[in-house]
Amino acid sequence: MNNYSPSVTRLINEFAKLPGIGRKTAERLSHHILRTDKEDAMGLSDAIQAVKENIRHCQTCFNLSEEEQCGICQDPRRDQGTICVVEQPRDLFSLEQTGTYRGSYHVLLGRIAPLEGIGPEQLTIKQLIERVRSGTVNELIMATNPTLEGDATALHICEMLTDSSVPVTRLARGIAAGSVLEFANKAMLSDALSGRQKI
Ligand code: ZN
Repeated sequence: MNNYSPSVTRLINEFAKLPGIGRKTAERLSHHILRTDKEDAMGLSDAIQAVKENIRHCQTCFNLSEEEQCGICQDPRRDQGTICVVEQPRDLFSLEQTGTYRGSYHVLLGRIAPLEGIGPEQLTIKQLIERVRSGTVNELIMATNPTLEGDATALHICEMLTDSSVPVTRLARGIAAGSVLEFANKAMLSDALSGRQKI
């Protein structure tokens, strides 16, 4: 059934690991790479290598960055006293695309998910609490996903900050419960930000 040589089979298998790529698409992409001249094909391979070697997490907010501090943390025009707490870098990118938020972020790098064995200590919650306790924070906006786990994560952080005077708000429920930020459209996210409520 499978007449591909070992290298081609390997390429197809690698493509098939990508999200949303089925076997047929993996084969089509592989045939495309086989037809492409060497320079273009190596461009893809080099780009993958470069992000894996150069991208790390910002020391302050854990956004993806090529430097110790990401562009948002380094930007003096951003309000560093307002911190929007998100689960993943892709949520930060969704919020940035609305173009309405001018504060800074904190990326948790996940959410509390007991069934998957993910507890608070595996996330960057400790570092977030340290930022809040440093005294330079005026508002914390919880923008974890409106799912059971996202809500529980936001609640856990609130509970750790009960002795702090920093107001904590939650994104308004313009985003349907159970959906995820990544797929919300720009207008919905802007509304959710401007309609945020104190918790
Ligand atoms: Zn940063």
